[in-house]
Amino acid sequence: MNIADYKKFDVINGKGLRHALFTSGCEHHCKGCFNAATWNFDYGTPYTQEFEDQVIRDLNIDYVVISGLSILGGEPFQNVDGLLGLVKRIKNECKDKDIWVWSGYTFEEIIADESRLELLTYCDVLIDGKFILEQRNLKLQWRGSENQRVLDVKQSLSQGQAVGLGM
Ligand code: SF4
Repeated sequence: MNIADYKKFDVINGKGLRHALFTSGCEHHCKGCFNAATWNFDYGTPYTQEFEDQVIRDLNIDYVVISGLSILGGEPFQNVDGLLGLVKRIKNECKDKDIWVWSGYTFEEIIADESRLELLTYCDVLIDGKFILEQRNLKLQWRGSENQRVLDVKQSLSQGQAVGLGM
């Protein structure tokens, strides 16, 4: 897995003060994609154990409250093998940190696939669906087009259907 970008102290991608990790590689190829450079799985820099350790340390800093990690792409769910180790460590080693994830797949498409579902189970919030240029709305929070949803993962998984995040 390659990393396209890593932004510390991000306040745009999710609730609270967070770190944001952008994975490389996306096969959805949405028209009007905000970051087409990340379609290439070789874009950016290789993900390493040292980098993963750094992310864990960054989440656990104590001089400011970090809400959690946001994982964007590219398409994180086309990098499941690369991300599973990280999300498991966050749940084990980072107390009270949530994980937000963005995907071009819908919730229904993710839960229909065993490996994608496994990654989702470690996440708390899912912003789902492809970016559809014709439905673009610049006023939306955390998403770019009207079809995309902000979902409460735990509630959605327990009810077996998409449940919106209470704001
Ligand atoms: S899913 Fe996201 S990264 Fe992939 S093409 Fe669509 S907007 Fe771009």
